[in-house]
Amino acid sequence: MRRPRSFPADLYNGHMKTWDAIVIGAGIIGLSVARELHRRGMSVLVVEKGEAAREASYAAAGMLVGSVEESPPALRELASTSAKMYPEFVHELEDESQSKVDFRQEGTIVLQRAGARVLGASSNTLTSSELRKREMQLEAEGYEAVMVEEASVNPRALSEAALTTCKHRGVDTSLRDEVVAVEVVNGRAAAVRTTKTGFAAGLVVNCAGAWAGKIPPCSFPTRPVKGQMLAVAMRDRNVLRHVVRAPEVYLVPRSSGRLLIGATVEEAGYDKRTDADTIHRMHRAGCGILRRDGPFPGWHFACASHGEDHRTGGLWGEGGLGHCGLFAGQV
Ligand SMILES: Cc1cc2nc3c(=O)[nH]c(=O)nc-3n(C[C@H](O)[C@H](O)[C@H](O)COP(=O)(O)OP(=O)(O)OC[C@H]3O[C@@H](n4cnc5c(N)ncnc54)[C@H](O)[C@@H]3O)c2cc1C
Repeated sequence: MRRPRSFPADLYNGHMKTWDAIVIGAGIIGLSVARELHRRGMSVLVVEKGEAAREASYAAAGMLVGSVEESPPALRELASTSAKMYPEFVHELEDESQSKVDFRQEGTIVLQRAGARVLGASSNTLTSSELRKREMQLEAEGYEAVMVEEASVNPRALSEAALTTCKHRGVDTSLRDEVVAVEVVNGRAAAVRTTKTGFAAGLVVNCAGAWAGKIPPCSFPTRPVKGQMLAVAMRDRNVLRHVVRAPEVYLVPRSSGRLLIGATVEEAGYDKRTDADTIHRMHRAGCGILRRDGPFPGWHFACASHGEDHRTGGLWGEGGLGHCGLFAGQV
C-alpha cells in the first residue's frame, strides 16, 4: 500500500488503509469536493454519517443566485464566479453520470416593492405587458418586476449525479459512519475517528454542513438554520417557467411540473419538524402571486452557515452557505 501524498512519514503505518484525502459529509459540497480532488489525481474517501445527500442538499430549492446585489457581500465574488462556471459543471456531471439535473436557464423574476428595492433600477425592469408575455399566471399587482439572468437546478438530481460520478471514478465511501473526531498530529489533520473505526489521510476536508462545527478538535463557526417549504403539482408545466422571488415567498418550477414554494428561515437548531400553519401560510403567500396551483406535501431540512479553520494544517471546512449554498459546489 502506498503512502498518500503529504501524509507524514513518521505516522505512516503500512497496515492501515490510507487515502490522500478524506471528505467528511456526502452532501453536494462533499461530493463535489471529492470529485474534484479525485480529478486532480488523489485517492479519496467520503465518510457520511447517514445516507448520501439526504440533508440540506436534498431539501434545497435549487436557485443558483448569481445576482451580486442579492448575495451577502462576503459571497458575491464566489456567487458570480460560480454562476459563470455552473453550465460547464452541470455539463460534466450530466455527461459523467449519464443523468439529467434539470438545469434551467429561463431566468428569475424578482418582484420588489417600490419602497423596499433589493435590486437597483436597471434596464431589466419589466413593464406589465412584458411581464404578462413572460408569465401569464403571475399576479404581480403592486410590485416592480425585474428580470435577472439566473439558473436553477434540481438539487436532488444534482447530488445524485455527483454521487454516481464519484462512484464511477472510484471515490471510496463509508456510509452510516459518523466522524466523531479529526485526529491532529504535529499540527496536521492526519486521520478521522468514526463510530465504527478510523481512517488515515494526508488531508481532511470537513463538509459536514450544519454539523461541521461539532466535529472536534476544530470548531468551525457553523449553526443550523431551519427552512420549511412545500411543493405543489402545477396543472400544466407551463403555468410558470421562471423562478420568481417575492419578499414573502419564492417559487421555483421544475421541468417535471412540480413547483416549490419556499421557504422559512428559522433559528430552530436541528429541529426538523414541519408545522401545518407555516406550510399553509407559505401556500397562501404562493397563491397570492400565482393564479393557479394545487396541494402537495411539505418538507424541511437544516442547512448551515459557513466557516473554515486555518489553525490546523490539512483540515479544511466547507459548509452550506446559508440559503445559497449550492453554487459553492463547483468552485
Ligand atoms: C429549505 C432550504 C432551501 C434551500 N434553497 C437553496 C437554494 O435555492 N439555493 C441554494 O444555493 N441553496 C439553498 N439552500 C441551501 C443548500 O441546501 C445548502 O447550502 C447546501 O445543500 C449545503 O450542502 P452541504 O453539502 O454543505 O450540506 P448537507 O447537504 O447538509 O450535507 C452535509 C452532510 O454531512 C453529513 N455529516 C454531518 N456530520 C457528519 C459527521 N460527523 N460524520 C459524517 N458525516 C456527517 C450529513 O449527514 C450530510 O449528509 C436551501 C436550504 C434549505 C434548508
